Amino acid sequence: MRTIIAGNWKMNKTIKEAKDFKNKILDEIGRENLTCDVVICPPYTLIEALKGNGLFAVGSQNISEEVSGAYTGEISSDMLKELKVEYSIVGHSERRTIYKEDDEMVNRKVKQALDSTIIPILCVGETLAERKAERAVSKVEFQIEAAFAGLTSTRAKKVVIAYEPIWAIGTGVTATSEQAEEMCFIIRKKISKMYDSSVADEIPILYGGSANAANAKELLAKPNINGLLVGGASLKPDEFAKIAMIASK
Ligand code: PEP
Repeated sequence: MRTIIAGNWKMNKTIKEAKDFKNKILDEIGRENLTCDVVICPPYTLIEALKGNGLFAVGSQNISEEVSGAYTGEISSDMLKELKVEYSIVGHSERRTIYKEDDEMVNRKVKQALDSTIIPILCVGETLAERKAERAVSKVEFQIEAAFAGLTSTRAKKVVIAYEPIWAIGTGVTATSEQAEEMCFIIRKKISKMYDSSVADEIPILYGGSANAANAKELLAKPNINGLLVGGASLKPDEFAKIAMIASK
């Protein structure tokens, strides 16, 4: 199973800042030292400045569920593919909460990404209230079921899952490695039930939520955590390079 370190830049950085980041990270990490897959998901406007760098892949933070047409402000999977985008974050909690993306839309986005051979990084996770009410497992299992609805096992295997407890995103509060491992294990078991263990064993499951260079090693040591989706810490080239190097050890 390959380890994936993905950065989500959210709505940050100018073209100059993105180019500076790329140059710094290329200086710090040689391709020969990397044994993990590294992905940066910048705003759409920075894709052109980052792509084709030979070190990290480029992903988008969103993708339209439609093929083309009258959808003002949207970007299609084929447009992203044309820009050599390899991954797309789908169903991030900020999109689910702020832009009201529901599970049915997330399912359509997953399918649309796969139709254009873009790897969806499907985000799932519970709120603090849901965790306190012991509804975290049922919420995450429901999100997984809904997002994979109608996918054959061949297509399901191409999805990457990111378990991102909403209470840990951008808060500085990281889930303990035990909490993260427990849910990643539950997710793998769920996929195994929906398909079979060969599918479950092929799907990388990432953890996201205040991951950084200080906690990466402990999180990545867990058997069911196959990588990290990193928000804030991915904006700093030194820190992000450190995380990629930790994942390569
Ligand atoms: C994210 O936005 O996916 C994320 C995990 O953010 P942060 O690392 O800042 O918590």
